[in-house]
Amino acid sequence: MAKITHIAAISIPAFSHQASILEFCKRLVHLHHNIHVTCIFPTIDSPPPATISLLQSLPSSTTVDHIFLPPINKQDLPQDVPPAVQIQLAVSQSMPSFRATLHQLHSTTPFVALVADTFASEALQVAKDISLNLSAYIYFPPSAMTLSLFLHLKTLHNQVSCEYRDHKELIRIPGCIPIYGHDLPEHFRVIQTGPNSDPNGPECVRWLDNQRPNSVLYVSFGSGGTLCQEQVNEMALGLELSGQKFLWVLRAPSDSANAAYLGAENVDPLSFLPRGFLERTKGQGLVLVNWAPQTQILSHSSTGGFLTHCGWNSTLESIVMGVPMITWPLFAEQRMNAVLLTEGLKVGLRPKFNSDGIVERDEIAMVVKGLMVGEETNGIRQRIRELKDAAADALKEDGSSTRDLFQFGTRLENLKRGHQTFDGL
Ligand code: UDP
Repeated sequence: MAKITHIAAISIPAFSHQASILEFCKRLVHLHHNIHVTCIFPTIDSPPPATISLLQSLPSSTTVDHIFLPPINKQDLPQDVPPAVQIQLAVSQSMPSFRATLHQLHSTTPFVALVADTFASEALQVAKDISLNLSAYIYFPPSAMTLSLFLHLKTLHNQVSCEYRDHKELIRIPGCIPIYGHDLPEHFRVIQTGPNSDPNGPECVRWLDNQRPNSVLYVSFGSGGTLCQEQVNEMALGLELSGQKFLWVLRAPSDSANAAYLGAENVDPLSFLPRGFLERTKGQGLVLVNWAPQTQILSHSSTGGFLTHCGWNSTLESIVMGVPMITWPLFAEQRMNAVLLTEGLKVGLRPKFNSDGIVERDEIAMVVKGLMVGEETNGIRQRIRELKDAAADALKEDGSSTRDLFQFGTRLENLKRGHQTFDGL
């Protein structure tokens, strides 16, 4: 019988990162039946319910195992820092239990390699513990443009003397479309724990079943993105004014755009909508509270557009389903993604923010109509269809994505056989 190659993977306490690395592991073991992966998840308070559902949906025959590390208490983290920093601190505080867990597992089933989320890079040090000495790899799923930026940062640092946001000329990242400094990531940070539940499933799918093909705009800002109160008002009135059908995932407003990543406020988001909005838009739209089954919505034939914060998972999901976008970046590398989608790939429209950082209702109505029924829509839809086909090709058995992953698995298996030593960094 062929020898099993054991590898370990570590993620961070954030649903979108956990879901992404799990998908990677699933695909890897699908291509290499002799590889066995143990995913190790640092935790804040308790594991995200959406991750639990995902794990429960894995086939019992899968060779992907998981372990949740002892939780870090949210109350013990500094409360006056952004959620991204809390997540990073929780990962750091989990390192002792990660080390202990890795050593314990290694003593019975030796690992050959560790794959770490970008924001769990501290784990790479653990991989180098003398008694482990694992090959170490960073799992970096964002766009090639983001990767190119990271690799180019040292040069950029020497070229640009002011703050990037104040740099007036276009910045050239190798192999990418030029970009202005204000569209670069404001800092390299991470996001969100999972939502509390998914109560909006059946209702919204039933609602979509009753709409015309391609007629509904889906509006969502990722697993924790939030708008301020003024923007919630403008969004509501802009959607109403557009006259287009919409399905809007609403969170209670906050002045911090990533306020809900460590759990939504215990308040009713609907109470923040403009007076009479829900009654007036009864036939036009559906407002969902906090969370929605996004991939189901994007794959529904009635969904014809996605107003998105351009998180990379949302972006890829939209491309794979062939849904054109309105790009509304909030933080991290999302502005870059927005430029890529609207100016590079030309599969979306980008609304204009006023000098106070607000997109006003008329602008929203204009861009929504533009995407759903405007003159440009045919070209945009044609291009997103081409991109969808290209994504499907990459995932085919002989596609580029499948081939790359297969080669990576082969490297791991070779490590096991002792033919080569690789250091993935
Ligand atoms: N998501 C979802 N329902 C929601 C909001 C988000 O299922 O109501 C999922 C979405 O499908 C995607 C992930 O959460 O897989 C969000 O990841 P993304 O990278 O787009 O944004 P982030 O949450 O990291 O800001």
